[in-house]
Amino acid sequence: MKLYEPVTLAMPLAKEIGGFIRREGRLPAGDELREILKGFGLEESCLDRGLGVYRSKFLIALVFPREETIVVDVISSSGELSDALEVIAYHDKKLEAFVVEILPTNDLEYEGNVGIEPIIIDGETLELESNPVLGHFEEDEEGLFLVIDGKTYERWRGEGDIHTCPICGGELAWKGDKAYCQDCGYGVKVVRG
Ligand SMILES: [Zn+2]
Repeated sequence: MKLYEPVTLAMPLAKEIGGFIRREGRLPAGDELREILKGFGLEESCLDRGLGVYRSKFLIALVFPREETIVVDVISSSGELSDALEVIAYHDKKLEAFVVEILPTNDLEYEGNVGIEPIIIDGETLELESNPVLGHFEEDEEGLFLVIDGKTYERWRGEGDIHTCPICGGELAWKGDKAYCQDCGYGVKVVRG
């Protein structure tokens, strides 16, 4: 997996947290979140009073300890904040659902338009109630692609708009199992398992 810009970590991280919630029926605890982050190849460089700092060559993830809410900020290791993203996971008592969202850390300066739909998981049945298009990023000779599985694609095609880029909200042009976005420069690749 390639981790360059914050979105390349935020999307697979949200997906992993969503998968954990659907399996376990709860938010991951601190240690479990550490394992998830290390699983992405991030190195833990500091852990102090619950605040965790994780880094890869291009990214830094900050994990903030909060009651009943997971907050992970992902920023470029260059210190550039305009593309920083925050992954938030919580149990919404009114909705009786778990929510995992990806938000720009800095609304005013964020250059893209996060087209990413939140993950909403029914608190009782643990069924997915929204239509998030999440995956991980892989690089090939044509560029960097968000790789999604066949199930995610079918749900997206059935309930969403496959011509809207899930990363930036721009327009996607499909060619077979690959789509290209001129706005953000990422693509989407469907890999059926
Ligand atoms: Zn795009």
